[in-house]
Amino acid sequence: MSEDDRAGALTPLQAALRRRCPRCGRGRLLEGFLRAAPVCESCGLDLRPYDAGDGPAFFAGALAGLGGVGAVALSMLAFDAPGAWPVAAGMAGAIVGGLAPLPFLKCFFIAQAWRKAARR
Ligand SMILES: [Zn+2]
Repeated sequence: MSEDDRAGALTPLQAALRRRCPRCGRGRLLEGFLRAAPVCESCGLDLRPYDAGDGPAFFAGALAGLGGVGAVALSMLAFDAPGAWPVAAGMAGAIVGGLAPLPFLKCFFIAQAWRKAARR
């Protein structure tokens, strides 16, 4: 990678927030909800070597736990929810807390891997 390639590059945070190619900032990083695009549709960057693997899922799992516990605590302490409502709230919180940040985390990992490889 030359200095010219890095001139328009996005930071991993910018690429993850926009879900765009870290090199050109235009092509999509994901096809659908979670499938990583094999190649940038705009600049042709091969994204396969930067597959994030299970890293994003690990962090999403941790966030799912936080979302579930937070929803249970909120339903019990703030609303004094009866019966099975805290369990239902915990399950919903875990699902939302785990799934919502997953595309962001996947894009962040891909962009970070590309940036790290580009510095070599
Ligand atoms: Zn691109």
